[in-house]
This record gives sequence, structure tokens and C-alpha cells, in this order.
Amino acid sequence: MRVLVLGSGQLARMMSLAGAPLNIELSAYDVTNGNIVHPLTQTVLGSGLDNAIANADVITAEFEHIPHPILDICEQSGKFLPTTEAIKAGGDRRLEKALLDNAGVRNAKYAVINSREDFDVAIEHVGIPMVLKSALGGYDGKGQWRLKDLADVENIWAQMADCIASSDNQAIVAEEFVPFQREVSLVGARGRDGSIAVYPLAENVHTEGVLSLSTAIADQELQAQAQQMFTSVAESLNYVGVLALEFFDLNGQLVVNEIAPRVHNSGHWTQQGAETCQFENHLRAVCNLPLGSTQLIRETAMINILGEDTLPNELLAMDGVHIHWYGKEKRTGRKMGHINVCSDYSGELQRRLSALADVLDKTAFPALAKFAR
Ligand code: ATP
Ligand code: MG
Repeated sequence: MRVLVLGSGQLARMMSLAGAPLNIELSAYDVTNGNIVHPLTQTVLGSGLDNAIANADVITAEFEHIPHPILDICEQSGKFLPTTEAIKAGGDRRLEKALLDNAGVRNAKYAVINSREDFDVAIEHVGIPMVLKSALGGYDGKGQWRLKDLADVENIWAQMADCIASSDNQAIVAEEFVPFQREVSLVGARGRDGSIAVYPLAENVHTEGVLSLSTAIADQELQAQAQQMFTSVAESLNYVGVLALEFFDLNGQLVVNEIAPRVHNSGHWTQQGAETCQFENHLRAVCNLPLGSTQLIRETAMINILGEDTLPNELLAMDGVHIHWYGKEKRTGRKMGHINVCSDYSGELQRRLSALADVLDKTAFPALAKFAR
């Protein structure tokens, strides 16, 4: 099978690695320059999307911020999965909120803001504190404001007005602030035959708006809630592939924060911790192959490597530690790779995280601070 991926970042790279043993060959469309590249080496394989589409058996995506005309061309080929509707919703918070309402899953109360008057209506409807997010282009907590005090309305409006004016079709989505205890996410796959396989929930820690630590957890009650919401969303979209749902855990009730119509950073732990990793399951789903088991095989946590391009070699000698680099050029705060830490027996994961915390720089890996001895 030949799969063309829209986007050529680390997610396409890891899909490529996972596809190789199944003889699934990947090429990637670099949205920034229109080149078709090898997702592992970034070697240019050709140019021209039309050729690449003609040569592919299946087309999929590794991120949601894809120009709609490109999605439409892919859609017309009849080869695109999950669905262009899901990708568009993942890239536009207005569509995303409508989709969540339509699927009947709990999400934060919201209002769409296009003008100063809309802002007043939103304050009335949503209440403060509120979280304000750009409808288009947001990621890693970028393009967000918090309104806690009415005295800040004009200042925040000035910034939001600039944002709205900065690009076509931009708007702001105002959301009620959810006073959650923790954040969790569910990654799962839906096959072409409608079969669904979800992974155990992951508990996620963000540092300055960016995911820093993700740990697979066992919580039957939350898992059942999450799985039900996953099924509602996936079925309402007739989704095929891996889909991630991010949740707030509010007193044991899950509230969906957002969806990601693709493999997700909070599912990277599955490379070492699950029977079949999320990348392989995405490819299995879109290639119409049976889904692989999503069962946890050992307790695993994932730590993002942000803005660093070297790690002490001694990490490679530590039991249960696996490094995954993305081959990217170093830039402050950039997702450069991740470390999966696995345990072979109960209680061992904390000890291994503590051992890592001893070796790694505390400022570069703030999420590990709580494990330091
Ligand atoms: P990413 O793409 O990295 O997931 P993002 O830019 O799409 O991030 P969100 O996930 O919507 O943004 O928000 C980033 C973080 O801000 C959330 O993980 C959460 O910690 C906080 N947050 C977002 N919305 C709310 C809310 N309504 N109430 C409370 N906290 C929120
Ligand atoms: Mg998020």
C-alpha cells in the first residue's frame, strides 16, 4: 500500500516507521513548499500534488491546519481518510464546537466573537472567567487570552481585534473557564468497517501551554465515559483512522476540550506501552486492515523533549528508557523528540522517572521536577 500524508513533520515520520513492517510505504506532502518528500529523510521525491495523489492508494493527514483547497482536491480523488470534514473541524474551533454539540458530548459553554458587540454578548452568555481562543491556527496554547476581570475587556479586545483582522475568516471562540482537577486524553482508532479500539486514557501535564508529560492511566469509570464520547464523535463523523479527544476531568466528569483528527502527542507512549502503537493503528485503519490490539502491555509515561537537541548518552543505558528524536533543527521550545519510560513491574515507573529526573536538566524538563529525589 502507498499512503500519502498531508504534512511532513514528526507524526508523518513516526507513521512511516510504523508502516514499514507492514509494507506500507509513505510519502509526505510538505504544505509549506508543495514538495513531496520522504517523511523519514525529508528527501524530495518530486513536486506536484496531482502526481502524488494519482500514485497513492490512500491519502491521510498528520495535522489539521491544511488549506481547504488542498483538502478539497484530495477529497475529489476519493482516497482521503478520515474525512475532510473532520480535518476542517480540527482546524477551526467554530466547526469543532458545533461538531461536539452535534455529537451530544459535554463541552465548555461557548460563544463566537466577530465584533466588539459579540464580546459583550459572550461575557453575558459565557460569564467570567473565560478563555478566549482564535478560531483558526491555534496550537500549543498560542492565540489564547484569559479574561478574569471586566477591567481587562478593552485591552484584550484590542488584541483580539488585531487577531481577527490578521487573516481571512478569523474569529474568536469564547469558552467558559473549566476549573478542572486534571487533563486527560483518549486516543483511539476506528476502522473502515466501523470497528473501534481505544487506548487507555493518558493523564497530561502542560508546561507553558505545551504538553510536557503524558502517562497512561487505569481508571475504569473515566475510561468508560471517555470511550462513550469517543464513539459518539467518531460515529457522527463516520471517521476512519486515529482520533484523539482531550478532556478536562471536572470532579470525575469528563468535559471535552478539543479533538485532534489524527495521531496525537498524548498517544506517543503507545510506541512502547501498547500492543500496537497509534501510528500503526492509524495506517491499519485507513488501509482497511484489521485494527491491532490497543492493550497496555506495561506502564508507560512520555516526556516531550522541547528545544533540546542532545541528551546524555547514559539515558540509553537506563532500563525502560526509549528516546525518539524527530531529526529537527533546534529551536527554542520546539518539539524535538520524546522519551518513553516504561516499567516492568508495578511501582517501578515512578522510580525510573525519578532516576531520569536525577540525570536531566531541571529547567529543560520541568515536568520531571515532581519526581526529583
Ligand atoms: P494544543 O494544540 O497543544 O492541544 P491548543 O492551542 O489547541 O493546544 P487548547 O488545548 O484549547 O489549546 O488549550 C491549551 C490549554 O489551555 C489546555 O490544555 C488547558 O490547560 C487550558 N484551557 C483551554 N481551554 C480551557 C478552558 N475552557 N478552561 C480552563 N482551561 C482551559
Ligand atoms: Mg489542546
